Amino acid sequence: MNTSMGDVSEKNEGAIEQPRYVIEPARSGASKCKTCRHKIAKEALRLGILVDGFYGPGYMWHHIECAAQRMFEQVEEAYEMEAWKVAKSPPEGVPSLEELRTVKAKAEDRRRQKRTLPYAEVAPSGRSRCKKCGEPIEKGSVRVALAKEVRFGGQARVGPMNVHPRCVPAALEEEEVVTELESLRDELLSNSRDIDTARIEQAVSAIDRAQSSS
Ligand SMILES: [Zn+2]
Ligand SMILES: [Zn+2]
Repeated sequence: MNTSMGDVSEKNEGAIEQPRYVIEPARSGASKCKTCRHKIAKEALRLGILVDGFYGPGYMWHHIECAAQRMFEQVEEAYEMEAWKVAKSPPEGVPSLEELRTVKAKAEDRRRQKRTLPYAEVAPSGRSRCKKCGEPIEKGSVRVALAKEVRFGGQARVGPMNVHPRCVPAALEEEEVVTELESLRDELLSNSRDIDTARIEQAVSAIDRAQSSS
């Protein structure tokens, strides 16, 4: 353990040529994960990302799993650089990139399940079908996920009902659909992720056209 020099190096390794990334077991329990905001336990594997701070360059630390969930591209870069080799005390082992990719995918699944309905999104494949008209939803086109009450035995739960924008007015007439037309546009704008506002507005126009022609 290199405690004799104090832990000055924790934040700043000196101004010259600091590597952009470092992966190491935390040298103390003092650093905080910038992703989850919890303390990083001593010896827990952490990823440091060099940033220009007020007092010069320093590392922002993240639990390696937290980084995998929120900034996988940077984790990949750090792995390409073998960022554990520049650590003061290199870790005995690091999880494989594949393991971290699984951590990322699981986190994405959880986020998707927790997403606030209704929202608009770009169909990632051509495999989904509109739950109103039954026709496929073309890959790359915008689909709208409405909030629909689903019953399991005695329990009611709200889940997504994916439909074409043009099928939204008809879907809203179903009793189980709890999304309201009045607030739909605002909700789509605030709940949708990874989609341009312009495309949401286009979907809203398509909903309006379908509404006025019905
Ligand atoms: Zn964390
Ligand atoms: Zn449809």
